[in-house]
Amino acid sequence: MEVSCDLVDDTATGAPGATRRGERADDVRTRSEALRTLARRGSARVIASCGLALLAVRAALGGAGVLDAVIVVAALAVAGVGEWVVHRHLFHAPEQAWVARRLGVGREHRRHHADPGALDTLLLRTPAAAVFVAVLGVVAAGVAVPLARVVGAPGARPATTAWLVAVLALGHYEWVHLLAHTRYRFRSRRYRRLARNHRVHHHRDDRSWFGVTSDVGDRLLGTRRAAAEASRPG
Ligand SMILES: [Zn+2]
Ligand SMILES: [Zn+2]
Repeated sequence: MEVSCDLVDDTATGAPGATRRGERADDVRTRSEALRTLARRGSARVIASCGLALLAVRAALGGAGVLDAVIVVAALAVAGVGEWVVHRHLFHAPEQAWVARRLGVGREHRRHHADPGALDTLLLRTPAAAVFVAVLGVVAAGVAVPLARVVGAPGARPATTAWLVAVLALGHYEWVHLLAHTRYRFRSRRYRRLARNHRVHHHRDDRSWFGVTSDVGDRLLGTRRAAAEASRPG
């Protein structure tokens, strides 16, 4: 997922668009190389530090209950569709759309499509990662607190659980998206299929396969592209 939000780049490679030799996803061949590449990026540091902080807060708040389990299951169920909505309607927002003109949303993603191997636009820039983490916190609280009220429970625990799961999902997205653009070949059939779908999105039809870590959104919302069709030039 990429978002610009007109924020200044402060990632490891310096100036926007600049990439050093060996700093491209298509140079990466193994999972450990990918992990080292990701660990050098500001977005990974933001996501990892926020995830660890939320884990510590959640542990301090006390044991998990049924509501936490409900939150985790619900978050996993909607994550694929949420990812689809962000990719389809924000990152691929028309250039004349308000979010694109005023917030710069989609600009980085267009750069990512122009050069998929460039890490600066493949991975979130550090400020964009912080914005995502903050927005996910607002969404998590907005869902979990009213849900807790319905069952007469305090909202802090489920809200923290929901935020933690959302931040982990964001980290998962960054990891899978990075690997999908490297020479690494996923071992699992599910992730191999997702990586293949993402390449179709980039190289065949950018109106198909908006899901990166899940294809649920594409299946539900009609943006699948059949393998036979995808193999034809287009
Ligand atoms: Zn991509
Ligand atoms: Zn795209």
